[in-house]
Amino acid sequence: MKILLIEDELELRSLIAESLRKERYVVEEAIDYKEALLKIETYKYDCILLDITLPGGSGLDLLNHLKEMHKKENVIIISARDSLEDKIAGLESGADDYLTKPFHLAELSARIRSVLRRTQQEGENKICFGNITIYPTDYKALIDGQPLSLNRKEFVILHYIMNRTDRLIDKVQMAEHVWGDHIDQSDNYDFIYAQIKNLRKKLKDAGATPELKAIYGVGYKFTLEN
Ligand code: CA
Repeated sequence: MKILLIEDELELRSLIAESLRKERYVVEEAIDYKEALLKIETYKYDCILLDITLPGGSGLDLLNHLKEMHKKENVIIISARDSLEDKIAGLESGADDYLTKPFHLAELSARIRSVLRRTQQEGENKICFGNITIYPTDYKALIDGQPLSLNRKEFVILHYIMNRTDRLIDKVQMAEHVWGDHIDQSDNYDFIYAQIKNLRKKLKDAGATPELKAIYGVGYKFTLEN
């Protein structure tokens, strides 16, 4: 799960980012309006944490921009401004939730899980394909009801492909989703492909019925077809 944290206060941003990374989210940070806008336009996120008062512009304008671009990201506003007007404006502009600073990190974490659960799995906290079942919020994967041991990245990859079954999966998009946009600066895709290879082997060894097939030059397809 990939989260964009838009917050200009360094200390708070570090605290939130660190805490969410511990919970195994991929967290990217934007420190002002301009950087936030660029990331929103360029990448896809599962959830955006949005401060309202930002250098260079308002978080509410970013929210309107998201809507104009027909983006489906979950948005949780995190704001020091406890004004009812802001709250109403934010929720009317399509924010999913609103949290007033200061807040407990545990509260933020619960809100994130709640919006992700609501939209991503349409209320159902598991995804099934073939004989595989995963529980994204618990990082749990089962094959024929038996637990499958995966490292964090392998789970993130599995979650990604479980949401994109029977269609072409672009390997660059997947890498960006799973590893964050730092991949832009990195030419080390070998590491990524090694993780994917490990996951394929684990699925195969555990008797998974779907197979992650490599499609030459494009990426992958996760399918039950032979
Ligand atoms: Ca601020």
